[in-house]
Order: sequence, then C-alpha cells, then structure tokens
Amino acid sequence: MKSRKLMVTVIWLGAGACLSAQDRLTVAVFDYTGVPDAVMSPAVEMARNTFRVAGIETVWLVCPFSRAKPEGCTLPLPPLGLYVTMNVVPKVPAEQAGHTGFALTGPDALQRPRAYAAYTVVEDLAKKMRRPAWLVLGCVMTHEIAHVLGLKHGEWGVMRATLSPRDLDDVRQGWAFTAAEDTQLRVGTSRLVGAREVAEAGRR
Ligand SMILES: [Zn+2]
Repeated sequence: MKSRKLMVTVIWLGAGACLSAQDRLTVAVFDYTGVPDAVMSPAVEMARNTFRVAGIETVWLVCPFSRAKPEGCTLPLPPLGLYVTMNVVPKVPAEQAGHTGFALTGPDALQRPRAYAAYTVVEDLAKKMRRPAWLVLGCVMTHEIAHVLGLKHGEWGVMRATLSPRDLDDVRQGWAFTAAEDTQLRVGTSRLVGAREVAEAGRR
C-alpha cells in the first residue's frame, strides 16, 4: 500500500510543472493567535507539499491579523469566495469543544470557503503526542482545507476523524491522502478556482 502510494507521489512531483491554473489554490491563513514563525513556516511548507503530492499547487498567504487592516488581510487575495481562508484561532467555539478545528461546508461555505484551527488545542495535542507543534498544525490545516474542498473523514491518513501520532508521522512522510481522495481534492479545487475564471470572464 505504502510503496504504491510512494510511486504515485514521485509521478505527481514530476508532473508538478505541468499543472494547469485550475489546479492552483490560494489559501489565506488569518493568524489571530500570533503563531511563532518557527511553527507557522514549516506547518505551511508541509501542508503545501501534501497538497502538491495530491496534484494541487497551493499559494499560501499568511496574514498576522493584528497587523492587518480591520477589513482583513492586506496581502493581495483573489476575489472573496475564490480562495480558502484558514483561520488560526486560540480556541474553537464551545459547540466544537474537543476538536482541533472545523470547516464550513454547504451553501454558506461556497460564498466564503473557510476553516478554523484551534492553536491552543494544537499545542496541547503536540505535547501529548510528543510531536512538533508545526506538524500538528500542518496536519490540522490540511485536514480542514480538504473538508472545504469536499472530503469527508476516511479510514486512513490525514482525513481520519481523530489523528494519531502514527497518522502525523505518515503525513510527514507524504502519505496523507488516498488516490481516491487525491481525485476528489482536484475536483473540489477545480470547482472552487473554476468559479474564479467565470467571475473574471464576466468582468471582461
Ligand atoms: Zn474532520
């Protein structure tokens, strides 16, 4: 199973240069927590590599929210609704207690695709599992963004409902999604960024 997945990984890395614009997804990380750069940078790097292995190029913009303007991120973002917002907050709301994060799904999510990661829970989990906080944060962001793109929980990899230390180690090795999940992710990405091309064509 793993050696097959590894082969797929190598092929997708090789094909990375040929990906179309439709496979490129912008992720805006709104950091409301002040995550240290030593945690955020490797977390983003791992998540970016994980999506690349699945055939999706991601562009990550990290907005330290305290320094952003009140209306939001000052970095150049695509029009609202055509990128995924990954909010890193201190805690999840009470109704999500016990979760490391959650994602919006349904019609509302199509207007503003967004997900949340709870950084205090990430830190606690990292301590409990004796894994670096960047690894847990990277896995949680990947998991929640994949929900935004249409994935449900799976039996294996980063989409397991409750991530174990072994799952974290697998993701670190590049074994995050099944081949079927790779396909679903690409369909979900095309649907999201495809809307951008329609919107841009409408403005021309
Ligand atoms: Zn989940």
